[in-house]
Amino acid sequence: MARMIGPVCRLCRREGAKLYLKGDRCYASEKCAFDRRPYPPGQHGKGRIKVSEYAKRLREKQKVRRVYGILEAQFRRYFAEAAGRKGVTGENLLQILESRLDNVVYRMGLAVTRADARQLVRHNHIRVNGRRVNIPSYSVRPGSTVALCAKSAEIPRVQKAMEAAKSRDRAPWIEMAPDGRSGVYKAAPARSELEAIQPVEIDEQLVVEFYSR
Ligand code: SF4
Repeated sequence: MARMIGPVCRLCRREGAKLYLKGDRCYASEKCAFDRRPYPPGQHGKGRIKVSEYAKRLREKQKVRRVYGILEAQFRRYFAEAAGRKGVTGENLLQILESRLDNVVYRMGLAVTRADARQLVRHNHIRVNGRRVNIPSYSVRPGSTVALCAKSAEIPRVQKAMEAAKSRDRAPWIEMAPDGRSGVYKAAPARSELEAIQPVEIDEQLVVEFYSR
């Protein structure tokens, strides 16, 4: 299964924004590559100033794709699906991305990054409605229960993530059980709910404009 590989801090520098792809490290300024070098990577990184309208849209599309860890072909498919649904295409797109199983696991606070969440899913640590699901792109339906397998809660990085999640904002569209190991995905999030907890600013309209050009 294809996935993004390579140095992730470079992606933040390329997009000109912190994308929070490395968990705790992203919150420590002295360790964050973007805080230390907030300009694009490469020999001419500091020299680029002019940004065209096309480049703005392209960068926003790339930013969203990288935040959710999705490759171009699949992202295009998501966009086509969002455009075919009723309602606002940009919001539909974000809701489709939010319903991916790896993202739901991340939002539940069982992993510090979406990449970690993806690995948890791939390694059979997650159940949906009592059944083991190991497909990160699996679309979680409203009303579904997502749970960590009992033994998996003993994994140190899962425990660390659950501890870290206590001090972060919770996704209001996921109702967590008191033990923090399972939760019900109540509904796809509203745009305002996403905005309240998303550390990365996203302008989905620019993504729509990019694909509609
Ligand atoms: Fe790296 Fe900083 Fe981006 Fe986190 S926010 S991935 S530490 S550059």
